[in-house]
Order: sequence, then structure tokens, then C-alpha cells
Amino acid sequence: MRSPEASPPPRPTVRCAVLAAFLAVAGSPCLAQSQAEFTSCLARLQPAAQRSGVRPDSYSRHTDGVQADFGILDKLNYQPEFRLPIWDYLAALVDDERIVDGKAGLARHADVLQRIQAAYGVDPATVVAVWGVESNYGRITGKYPLVQALGTLSCFGRRQGYFQGEFYAALRILQRGDIAPDRLNGSWAGAFGHTQFMPATYERLAVDFDGDGRRDLVDNSDDALASTANFLRKGGWQSGLPWGFEVRLPAGFDPALAGRKNKRPASDWAARGIVAVDGRTLANSGLADGERTAILLPAGVRGPAFIVTPNFDVIYGYNAAESYGLAIAHLSDRLRGGPPFATPWPTDDPGLSRAERRELQTLLAARGHDIGAIDGMLGDKSRVAVRLEQSRLGQPVSGRGGQKLLQALRAEGDAQLPAGR
Ligand code: CA
Repeated sequence: MRSPEASPPPRPTVRCAVLAAFLAVAGSPCLAQSQAEFTSCLARLQPAAQRSGVRPDSYSRHTDGVQADFGILDKLNYQPEFRLPIWDYLAALVDDERIVDGKAGLARHADVLQRIQAAYGVDPATVVAVWGVESNYGRITGKYPLVQALGTLSCFGRRQGYFQGEFYAALRILQRGDIAPDRLNGSWAGAFGHTQFMPATYERLAVDFDGDGRRDLVDNSDDALASTANFLRKGGWQSGLPWGFEVRLPAGFDPALAGRKNKRPASDWAARGIVAVDGRTLANSGLADGERTAILLPAGVRGPAFIVTPNFDVIYGYNAAESYGLAIAHLSDRLRGGPPFATPWPTDDPGLSRAERRELQTLLAARGHDIGAIDGMLGDKSRVAVRLEQSRLGQPVSGRGGQKLLQALRAEGDAQLPAGR
């Protein structure tokens, strides 16, 4: 779950603290970003926190001596150099590893998932797919202490009001004792636990499914999985309704009709010649004629097309990005044994799974590039190395690691490593 965030406005890339030190100008507005300012900001926020239910003693217990983390403001203002194509997102989010791990999770938690389905009406594969995309089944839940991160975001940068609400919610979680202070860590923006709830979402929707008296989304997967099911149910999940499926468009389909909000009865799409990708009619594929549905063309008319139901909107509500919604939806299908998409993405350079990304990083490191940890995440350092290798190999220099670069580096073998690297 991300904070509700559109693309941020452009910002200067030089951090204020650095700039202020460089200019050594007293009274620069940049000097507002100091620990002293943070401390006085926390004191200023205390009355509002108290009005929201944080007792003064808990407030001081959890905020006294907390240092601001100014590195988080860089993340808040980060401008990606390009938008990854959707096939890159999906190649990493729905790869063989995540499917295998998810099937193992389905088997290991079969009993509790069945009870969750009985209680909330959400099927095991959907719940486990959210878990897999949000935190890699609880493996990657974030390392930022929430009080420090949300405190910093409450005092500096954009959207302080939003983050103050989340900050107070985090403090109330600690005050109730649901989660121990040293366990309340998450993403830099404050999403935490197995299913990456924001603190205010936690307060509204987390449940104590194992009945131990605490709603623990950090160290208790039963609570986390049930809370995800509760989130989806409260979002309007309809039991037994598919999220949608891949379809085949008729020749000449008007792409202006597509779009998640452009809802029409399934019978309307059927009358326009849209069928399931296996050739069955929409009605024979489980969609009632009157079902309000939309057509998604995540890569335009030349790529895979999907018909989506209101249940897709519920999944979308988890993360407010169609690419992530589609990743969760597709992963749930794959966990049920479903096939990959039938229609290829419109590219001659498909994306890389996480295993392939690690392999690419290993090949880049072997050529002397500093790419940091071999973690399967192609960050800024990896992209610099990708550019250099693309240039050396005479490939278009995009900074994007795809199959073409991986295969070219594989083909070189170790013997072809350039001299001097
Ligand atoms: Ca519990």
C-alpha cells in the first residue's frame, strides 16, 4: 500500500542542508531543515496529537530524542528518470519465484486462509497475491522506524498534514501496545507489516484474527492476512466474482472506449465483439450480462487487453496504481494454476524476472561496475552501469535493463570481459 500519491512536482535535487552548508548563509530558508527545527516541530505537534488521542506521556516516551531522517525527504521528492513500462513491473512482480513461493504459502496457511474466506468472503489466492506483491510474503516489510519517518514527514516537505494524521495514528498504535516500538518499522512513507498498511488504515481495518488480543500485522501472518481480507471486503469485494480476465478485441476496436472508469454492461462489450482470450463468450466466462465492466489496455491496443469487474477496483484501492492492481490480479490467477497472458507485450525487449535481474547485476559487477548489492532491484547505480554497457555494446542507451542486454552479456561470457575493467 502506498500513500495516496500522484506524481510529485519537480523539485531541486540539491538537498537544502547541503546547499545551506555550502552557501554558509545564515537565515537561508534551507536552514529550516535542522534537527533543532525538528525538535521544536515535534513540540508544536503535541497538542494536536493529544486531541487525536495520544496521551502526553506516550507522546514524550515515543518522540523524545528522535532524530529527523532527512534522507527520507529525498525519497519524497525523488523523480524517476523514466516510467518503467508495465511489462517490467509485471516481469518482476509476477515471476516464477513469486508464483512458487505463493503456492507454498497457500499450502502452508491453507487452514487459516479457509477460515478467513469464511469470515470475509475473500478467496485464498487473492489474499496471498496481495501478500506476495506487498511484501514478498512478509520478507520485505521495510526498515524505517515509523515514528522517525512519519515524524520527519510531518515536519518537512510536501503533504505534512496527511503525514501528521499517519504520525498520530502510529503513536496511538504504540500507546495501545498492539505493536512494540522496535517492531514498528516499514517503508519510508509509513506502510508497515506483512501487507503494508498505513497506520490510519491499520486503525480502521486491521483485525486480531488469532484472538491473542493484539492486532499484529508485523509478526503475525494470520492477523495480517485476515486484515487484508477485511480491507478488500470493506472496499466492496464481491465473493465469487472474478476480478476480470484477458480478452481478445475485435479488429478496429476504438481504444477511447477503454479505461477503468469507462464502465459498461458486459453484454455491451460482447455486442462489440469482445470475447475471452480462449474464444469463449463473456457470458460463458462467468460474467453476467449486466455486470458493470471496463476494458483495460495497459500497453495500448497492440498489447494484452483485459475486461475488469468492480473487484478489480477493490484491488486497485489497495495501491492506487493499475499496474500493481494487475500484478495482484494476475498473480492470484497464477496461484490458482492459471496461464501467463496469451498476448505478448508490444516490445521486442521483454522485462526481467527478479532472478534475471540478479543475474544482470552479477554480469555488470563482473565488468567492474559498482552496482551496490545484488538484490534484483535495478536502482540508480545499476542503471548507470546498464547505460555504459548498452553504449559499449552498441545498443540503444536507455538505462533500462531488459532481455536484450542480459542476453548480450550472457553471450559474451567471462572471457570477453573488456580489458581494464
Ligand atoms: Ca493477534
